[in-house]
Amino acid sequence: MKYVLVTGGVVSGLGKGVTASSIGLLLKACGLRVTSIKIDPYLNTDAGTMSPFEHGEVFVLDDGGEVDLDLGNYERFLDIKLTRDNNITTGKIYQSVIDRERKGDYLGKTVQVVPHITDAIQEWIERAAQMPVDGKPGPADVCVIELGGTIGDIESMPFIEALGQFSYRVGAGNFCLIHVSLVPVLNVVGEQKTKPTQHSVRGLRSLGLIPHLLACRSTTALDENVKVKLSQFCHVPRENIITLYDVPNIWHIPLLLRDQKAHEAIFKVLNLQSIATEPDLEEWTSRAELADLLHEPVRIAMVGKYTGLSDSYLSVLKALLHASVAQRKKLFVDWIAACDLEDATAKENPDAYKAAWKLLKGADGVLVPGGFGDRGVQGKILAAKYARENRIPYLGICLGMQIAVIELARSILGLKDANSTEFDPQTKNPCVIFMPEGSKTHMGGTMRLGSRRTFFQTMDCKSAKLYGNKTFVDERHRHRYEVNPEMVGRLEKAGLSFTAKDISGRRMEIVELRNHPYYIGAQFHPEFKSRPGKPSALFSGLIAAACGQLDSLLLQGSENKRIIPMAAGTIDTQTAIIYQNGTATKASNGTLDGIYSICNGVH
Ligand code: GLN
Repeated sequence: MKYVLVTGGVVSGLGKGVTASSIGLLLKACGLRVTSIKIDPYLNTDAGTMSPFEHGEVFVLDDGGEVDLDLGNYERFLDIKLTRDNNITTGKIYQSVIDRERKGDYLGKTVQVVPHITDAIQEWIERAAQMPVDGKPGPADVCVIELGGTIGDIESMPFIEALGQFSYRVGAGNFCLIHVSLVPVLNVVGEQKTKPTQHSVRGLRSLGLIPHLLACRSTTALDENVKVKLSQFCHVPRENIITLYDVPNIWHIPLLLRDQKAHEAIFKVLNLQSIATEPDLEEWTSRAELADLLHEPVRIAMVGKYTGLSDSYLSVLKALLHASVAQRKKLFVDWIAACDLEDATAKENPDAYKAAWKLLKGADGVLVPGGFGDRGVQGKILAAKYARENRIPYLGICLGMQIAVIELARSILGLKDANSTEFDPQTKNPCVIFMPEGSKTHMGGTMRLGSRRTFFQTMDCKSAKLYGNKTFVDERHRHRYEVNPEMVGRLEKAGLSFTAKDISGRRMEIVELRNHPYYIGAQFHPEFKSRPGKPSALFSGLIAAACGQLDSLLLQGSENKRIIPMAAGTIDTQTAIIYQNGTATKASNGTLDGIYSICNGVH
């Protein structure tokens, strides 16, 4: 097993996670099998109890692990399935050491950060790295480890010490350290400044870690003399200094790394030249370039709670993007704070109220994502009602599905107090009720979490068709409440179809409104399994319906849509993109050159 450690310096928020995922993708494109580990030096044992407002979304894995959103980047870029053990936190490590101490495993010794915590970290890394994640048996060739935080943080010290020991243990040739840093450009003189990177590399070295590559974030490509200077002061070969300058979309990052031959530098450090091939990023390049060229808009109103921080809904945004690119539409997401749609806001803040309704009314499709707690619930209900009555495509995810059910019960069945017992425990008409699978007392223990099988009840529905007429699908869950099975009959009479259920038939997984262009709710979170080039079925349905193209999508089947190179000279009648050859660029006369289109099936 070869290890690539990615650390960060100077400031946080440099896109270390995307860089690490891109490095993984580049290595994968060279024929290697790649896995990854994210280290989060916080004390929480997992991300399950962390506010998405502070920390970004909680990403959910197949095994039910609630983890840092960076694991989502790894899964999407590398098309792998990680486990909860691929996310290490200080809390997990200390818990395992304290558990061992209580069992008497340390035989009366004083239990200390060094060596007990540092040993536990190294054991965990080795164990997690061995787990197969790409569907093939046996371990990967390379494990990319991302250390969260910035070099010098107090809480990352035990990890730094452990990784220093680890690099020594696995030996030169098996360990490559890539330090992601910032090269700011001072406006006045426009000069690229190397001092912050020099300091952060010095800090890294003083902690016993030696960088092999520098990945420098900057607005523009680094000048040659800046690279030479960095090489001299940081003791990193000139060809191992990569610039990650600003690009139109993050799919370009692996291409930047490839163009600057980062893979060759890594292979030299890890002695992998003999087994690695030249990177094959053809399809990836097509998609990155296509995404820049799209111009026909599709507007999706996202009616949620944490609208201030787009990371709170990162996977939903990515899933919308995957679906839009696959259908050659430029995605615009209009963020609407659900409470701004409520009557109370009309009085307190009429401008916000007007603006929110204007956005909702201008949207081609409405998405109500998952959520917890009652803030904004009424606003979400109003959004669902608006979409239902005005025949606007609607996708409700988890809470968004529950909202659709509550809205229908209130508006069509006339049950004015219909509600989820999460928001009104005393309601006489509980259409959504607590249906836990796990413990009722422990935080994070009461949820139905991770992959569960969902069985279609009929093939004659939009969702089954979108999923390619499969009889069942495995999707990821994270919720406590579900549609009350006692009320299903009445809801069906009101026009709702329960088109997919769990194996027991008691848990409703997908609802669809009959006689509506696209009105679908899913109890699960399809966004977590969407991938670039493999958009999630229900998101494809939403985008297609929002563009008036659902029928043609249903005819083709939405799964396995790939962007593939088209023969030179082909003209795409739908987008008027003229396909020639070579790199896609925007021609000066406003037409678009490129060789890419989207086809059904595998390339
Ligand atoms: N709060 C709801 C529940 O627990 C929905 C959860 C979600 O949307 N993830 O069931």
